[in-house]
Amino acid sequence: MPGVSQVIPNAEKDHLVPQVLNIPEEEFNLEPLSRELIPGARLRTRAFIKVQDGCDNRCSFCITTLARGRGRSRPVADILANINEVVNDSSSNPSSAKEVVLTGVHLGSWGSDFSNPLHLSDLVKTILRDTDVPRLRLSSLEPWDLDEDFFSLWDDTRLCRHLHLPLQSGSADVLRRMARKTTPGAFASLVEAARAACPEIAITTDLIAGFPGETEQEFLETMDFVRKVSFAGGHVFTYSPRPGTAAESMPDQVPFPLRKERNAMVREVLFESEQAYQNHFINHTLPVLWESVTSLDSDIWHLRGLTDNYLRVSTQAPHQLWNQITPVLLTRIKDRGFEGVIPPI
Ligand code: SF4
Repeated sequence: MPGVSQVIPNAEKDHLVPQVLNIPEEEFNLEPLSRELIPGARLRTRAFIKVQDGCDNRCSFCITTLARGRGRSRPVADILANINEVVNDSSSNPSSAKEVVLTGVHLGSWGSDFSNPLHLSDLVKTILRDTDVPRLRLSSLEPWDLDEDFFSLWDDTRLCRHLHLPLQSGSADVLRRMARKTTPGAFASLVEAARAACPEIAITTDLIAGFPGETEQEFLETMDFVRKVSFAGGHVFTYSPRPGTAAESMPDQVPFPLRKERNAMVREVLFESEQAYQNHFINHTLPVLWESVTSLDSDIWHLRGLTDNYLRVSTQAPHQLWNQITPVLLTRIKDRGFEGVIPPI
């Protein structure tokens, strides 16, 4: 590659400066550059803690395995230390994070690479037992990493009632070509088990429109499946080939305009189910973590935040409640979120 003098693998990026400048590692003080915990876009209300990197799967559309390498899990002790650092006595410290989000490229595989393998559920139980994090949220999880026992974790109400389970397609044949380790039937059973354990849980998803070889029939199967499962929301991606992936060279690539058309159609179905999920919560009172606060007047504040089941809520209040969790009566839906009223204390 002309102009490229050195390639630093992703796993080595923390050592990028000494490598590029050719400074011996021991002479280079990493302290000012060592990665800080990412407190989230909105100051410190939510902290994203990366507990895992890489992936051992080979989904045929995905470049991640090539880019990030094999799955690696961080030790429990390091994760607990990170969480205690950001939570830092949350009841008395107004600026400590009120929510921790566990992230990873393949989060559900956490612990499987240890010499004594563990499961993500072991990590979640330990965090809930050994820290006083007010809210714990899980980022995206592959459906084949979970079983029915996993949902007993929601007995602890600090675990946010939100699961993001990427489906990608509702057609068994397309899932096979994608090399996904699930089927529509297995996915539906998992969702059923999650809802049995935690009835109001928000289940969101990712879908790919126009995967190579996707026939009209297979696309309609996805539309039907999305209607049947009734997700609380999600993302639809128009398939685009990634160099070096198996899907790139698959036959019968779907013409781009048709991919876009299918994206719009499945997006609409997903939006309908999102609305149905939201409608259920009108006139319900839910706890909201206020993440963004704007002063409207000397004694009126505009507050925006999230419920534990990932509903966006805004309200006006006479108090500046940034980084506090308060109950809110959800009164109406506006702009894909809710307007609410904080009941008098
Ligand atoms: S889509 Fe997810 S599970 Fe599949 S290879 Fe990519 S990172 Fe791994």
